[in-house]
Amino acid sequence: MADVATDAKSGKVVIRNIGLLLSGDIDRPILDADTIVVNDGLITAVGKAADCDIAGAKTTIDARQTCVAPGLIDSHVHPVFGDWTPRQNQLGWIDSTMHGGVTTMVSAGEVHLPGRPKDIVGLKALAITAQRAFDNFRPGGVKVLAGAPVIEKGMVEQDFKDLADAGVTLLGEVGLGSVKAGYEAQQMVAWARKYGIQSTIHTGGPSIPGSGLIDKDVVLEADADIIGHINGGHTALPEAHVCELCEKSARAIEIVHNGNEKIAIAAAQAALQLKCPHRVILGTDGPAGSGVQPLGILRMVALLASLANIPAELVFCFATGNTARIRKLNCGLIEVGRDADFVFMDRAQHTAGRTLLESVQLGDIPGIGMVMIDGLVRCGRSRNTPPATEIPVVVG
Ligand SMILES: [Zn+2]
Repeated sequence: MADVATDAKSGKVVIRNIGLLLSGDIDRPILDADTIVVNDGLITAVGKAADCDIAGAKTTIDARQTCVAPGLIDSHVHPVFGDWTPRQNQLGWIDSTMHGGVTTMVSAGEVHLPGRPKDIVGLKALAITAQRAFDNFRPGGVKVLAGAPVIEKGMVEQDFKDLADAGVTLLGEVGLGSVKAGYEAQQMVAWARKYGIQSTIHTGGPSIPGSGLIDKDVVLEADADIIGHINGGHTALPEAHVCELCEKSARAIEIVHNGNEKIAIAAAQAALQLKCPHRVILGTDGPAGSGVQPLGILRMVALLASLANIPAELVFCFATGNTARIRKLNCGLIEVGRDADFVFMDRAQHTAGRTLLESVQLGDIPGIGMVMIDGLVRCGRSRNTPPATEIPVVVG
């Protein structure tokens, strides 16, 4: 299991001979460029090779005409500590997910911790500890934004201020704790927002014993920043209610792997019809009862491209730039100043698609040939995707 020091520096990195460059930006998903230059983990130039300063690189990568995209972001995970999940008692799930192209994960609550404290001091201490622990330990180099407290009855404004002062930036899913609805939920979401803490609401039926039904009226009333798993966790609301949420709320529309696939398609199509595709973000909601899903985000991309009939280059933006903007992350977009987190992909061997994008449109998942985080190569050919037809090589 590869964990890496968070302070390792990439130096200058040049990636050349890129065949297709996906930007992550839904307003301009494909860039007319074949070269990226990185310095110490940040993108310093994007363009044609002739226009970039490619001299003096510490590392040069020949992309061999493969596709480069921003590293994928899983907007909804439930980590605990280290690279272990008690949900399925599995080791190495985060490193395995990096082999599925994910370079950043966002916690929706460390809810699976055995004996998770539910008293207010305890839940605050857990959130702060989880945030610190994942800040100091990155399995496979993956950036895990953790420390998302599950709110419980009795919390007061000062608790949210204390959390923010301690560096907590997320709330666990509203509805998983004793605060389920009404003024109390609305008030806590508002306090969180006041102190810069982003909130997500658990939409749909209960996922684990103890969680309850959160219906469309509760979601609208609480007004959390993110309509968490709008396609259910795991049981979805009726399709008409999901479409109503897309229309009546202006908040982020989060679609997850561990939800209802039919409603996932309906929600994505509703967002497009309402001309707000920038609101759509993707997560897995793993680990879960259905296991861990190292390829969960790629599978969501293939699902939405093929069955919701949304151009693949746009769906990749759901899992990259959209999430980065909504979550205020410095990754997810190929532009100067952003984190050098990339996934190199090609059409999988023997797909019926003639190009990477066509293969995804047909419902196949791509082959990953390399993953880079902060300008450092974290893996070569993925051990989890089908083999890519062509893979990048480090040439110097
Ligand atoms: Zn969840």
